[in-house]
Amino acid sequence: MQHSKDDTGTDETLNILRELVCINTQVPPGDNYGEAVAYTESRFRELDLRTERITMPHDMFLSKNPNLPPEKYYGERVNLLASLDAGADRTMVINTHLDVVPAGNGWSVAPFEGVVKDGKFYGRGASDSKAGIASLITVLGHIIESGQMPGYNLLIALTTDEEVGPYSGLCYIADKGVLKGDVFLSMDGSSDDVTIASNGSINWKLTVHGKSYHSGYSFMGVNAIEKSVPVMNELLSLKSRIERRVSNIRMSAVAGEKMGITNMKPVLNISVISGGVKDNIVPDTCVIIGDRRVTPEEDVREACREIREAVGRAKEKDPSLKCELACSQIYPPLYTPPEHPWVREVQEAADSAFGTAIETSGTQGSLDVAYAAAVAGMPACAFGIGRRVESGAHAPDENVRLEDISMYNRFLRLLLMRRGD
Ligand SMILES: [Zn+2]
Repeated sequence: MQHSKDDTGTDETLNILRELVCINTQVPPGDNYGEAVAYTESRFRELDLRTERITMPHDMFLSKNPNLPPEKYYGERVNLLASLDAGADRTMVINTHLDVVPAGNGWSVAPFEGVVKDGKFYGRGASDSKAGIASLITVLGHIIESGQMPGYNLLIALTTDEEVGPYSGLCYIADKGVLKGDVFLSMDGSSDDVTIASNGSINWKLTVHGKSYHSGYSFMGVNAIEKSVPVMNELLSLKSRIERRVSNIRMSAVAGEKMGITNMKPVLNISVISGGVKDNIVPDTCVIIGDRRVTPEEDVREACREIREAVGRAKEKDPSLKCELACSQIYPPLYTPPEHPWVREVQEAADSAFGTAIETSGTQGSLDVAYAAAVAGMPACAFGIGRRVESGAHAPDENVRLEDISMYNRFLRLLLMRRGD
């Protein structure tokens, strides 16, 4: 190991992180969650935490995630809850996910071994999101073994299928009503800033109907693909109106710089189109699927209404157009105001642990954390180990800086030892 010894327990965190990375929890298939749950469960039990395994029934996993090819997903969809009654007035829910995306190609090190090199730890899941788990086990161990107690009761939720969703293990345990607490810390974030906002997501599906016929007599049929074109044009003009809107919530400076935007923005996408069978048959249906990212200032129902109205305009122009639209929310937006006491508390611990001012920011993506926090009615924010660009989450050579691990250990200690009142 090339780093110098420190008092934050970095070596111990690295050992735990290495063991976690060696448990390959890539999804698909997600067939190895049991091993990761067994490992973390035994670590929490050593510290006298109460643990509980909560498994999402497989048929529910498939029916709630209908876009996943079922043959690629197998194994037990098991999640872990660990709780500690510290005798405090308030309970902090701490969450992140155990699953990782597949390694893919292009690695300079073995992705599931955990390699330390040039001041960094490399491995799939290093930053997204196993380092947070390793840090939590380390810090909690230090606190409890020294005879102290955190300033909060703790409910730790290590969940699965975050990377495939939308209906992840976290959504499931939130719906079961077991996610009870006062404040929510997601460790599925970066060390660049405290994430306080994310876009909600809506999924929409438009089915355009036609009438099949021999293409030589196509004037006798109704071409569903050709009928879709004016509808798509209406949707594209809606897209350009929507995407001119700007949220008041600032993006992460690191990510924003890369993308050339400073604030969050709404988005409308046409993502999938399918129709037609053969060149000489008039297609009788055309199905168009898309999504819409809704900023925290927008309203999900209003966003669906805008899409419905765009389709309605196409119908007005062409009364023979037959189609139907389905529009449903996947995740709500997340927003905890920067002046919220919980955000302040997280931010202050982060500032002092990292020795620099950590800003709050929003993300364009949509989070299962937003769903869980909305169901459980808790203020939530995310702060984790890793850098948005440098750490390469979902890319080859995913890594975390050893100094970030050390600072995050310090952060968690400050946050956990603070009296939450
Ligand atoms: Zn993640």
